[in-house]
Amino acid sequence: MSRFLKFLVVISMLVWSCQEVTKPTKPNILFIMTDDHASHAISAYGGIYDEIAPTPNIDRLAKEGALLQNVFCTNAICGPSRATILTGKFSHLNGYYKNHLGGKFDSTQWTFPWAFQQNGYQTALFGKWHLGTEPVGFDYYKYHNNQGQQGTYYDPIYNENGVNKVEKGYATTLTANFAINWLEQRSVQTGQPFMMMLQFKAPHRKWQPEEKYMDLFEDITMPIPRTFWDNYEGRELTAGDTDMTMDNFDPRDMKISPPDTITDSLALSRWGEMGYKRGTGVGWLPNDTMTIQEAREWKYQRYIKDYLACVRSVDDQIGRVLDYLDEKGLAENTIVIYTSDQGFYLGDHGWYDKRFMYEPSLRMPFIMRYPGVIPAASVNHDLITNVDFAPTLLDFAGIPSPDEVQGKSFRANLIEGRNSDWREATYYHYYEYPFWHHVQPHYGIRNERYKLIHFYYDIDIWEFYDLKQDPDELNNVYGNPEYADLIDQLKSELQKLQQQYEDDISLDSMRVLTKTNFGIIGGGDH
Ligand code: CA
Repeated sequence: MSRFLKFLVVISMLVWSCQEVTKPTKPNILFIMTDDHASHAISAYGGIYDEIAPTPNIDRLAKEGALLQNVFCTNAICGPSRATILTGKFSHLNGYYKNHLGGKFDSTQWTFPWAFQQNGYQTALFGKWHLGTEPVGFDYYKYHNNQGQQGTYYDPIYNENGVNKVEKGYATTLTANFAINWLEQRSVQTGQPFMMMLQFKAPHRKWQPEEKYMDLFEDITMPIPRTFWDNYEGRELTAGDTDMTMDNFDPRDMKISPPDTITDSLALSRWGEMGYKRGTGVGWLPNDTMTIQEAREWKYQRYIKDYLACVRSVDDQIGRVLDYLDEKGLAENTIVIYTSDQGFYLGDHGWYDKRFMYEPSLRMPFIMRYPGVIPAASVNHDLITNVDFAPTLLDFAGIPSPDEVQGKSFRANLIEGRNSDWREATYYHYYEYPFWHHVQPHYGIRNERYKLIHFYYDIDIWEFYDLKQDPDELNNVYGNPEYADLIDQLKSELQKLQQQYEDDISLDSMRVLTKTNFGIIGGGDH
């Protein structure tokens, strides 16, 4: 080899090794999650708001990545969903069953952020955490730490690596600012990839929009969901016996100020809770002339407009973050996920809130972009749950998950469009009762077409839905002899899932979990 050729080889090796140092070979992970954002409030998923209240920036992720149609929560409430996402395990194995009296997350257990950190990733968390214990597995965190870790929309208190501080401004914007600042300031010299959890508190109750969007939908009458006037026939003791109807909104949800005549603090607090009158009537009416029906529609309009205005700010901020990735040349090597901790009722069945195994709260939005790896504008219909998130994210980074993780990676499902070794049914279990919202504990199974639910706490009621014939789940056909064989078969599959996931305990033992006070995080634990 000539001296000149040797020189060239050495130079090219140097260039190659320099690139090795500065360019991460593993993808960055940007996990964006909101709180209570239903997929039917994202225009990429369609629905009655898609033209009135579009979400162009979230939609952009779907156009450039994969939109997942059948991602389900395993316990549709904030803290438990978050604990499941972190651990890849169902509530009964990660120990976080409920928000109200659900205690604090056991932070000594394995979580996926910790695994990323152990495998050379720079890790950070922004926004809502809501698990009581300090986050483990993050180099840097800045999470909402007032109102029982719900945070407030305006001037929230953040805990920044253990130090509390009030930040002036609107929560959604602040959280995005902090995330971008961290990306800007993190050391890139080490060549380490990053894993960031960017978790907006919006659009959680009490739905306070950003100042510029207060009157965003003022001149519009929002369409009403087709199940809004559900009379709960055939489901009187389950769907028909809750504290989450339009009647249960309190005046503060509706942004009504108390009259000047009420000054006593106890009276003020009673006034603020006027919505909670299950079984005693219709709650309160905004004025003396409105009928009950008119009041329900009026409350729905106030609610949905504020909810969708909060979503608008989230979409704006996601746009800013995506622009930042583009500007810095990070978009190509960064996996971006958009999801929410569960779905939500947007007037569906006459409700707000979540909890039930019915579709609007069971379904989680899930969009994932990884340019050049996940085909753009792809759609996936596999039955996936939030126990699968942790092993999937790690799999994309080539990091194995321990055997204790109950979920499975769906990486192949997204890249190859299918996975021959995939499950045919998903499992669900909800525990919290009677606070908040009075939803009976239940477990169930959902496959591609059918859903079987057992409400077991102080009632013993089974429900069965044919989602093809009845996508809105208005007809409980459990007692219909035509379905008897199918129901038997599904019961046996449900039992197998309970064994497989180690939730095959007695009903009495399940009831104890509902009754147990595991401790509190603080106020605002719903
Ligand atoms: Ca939530």
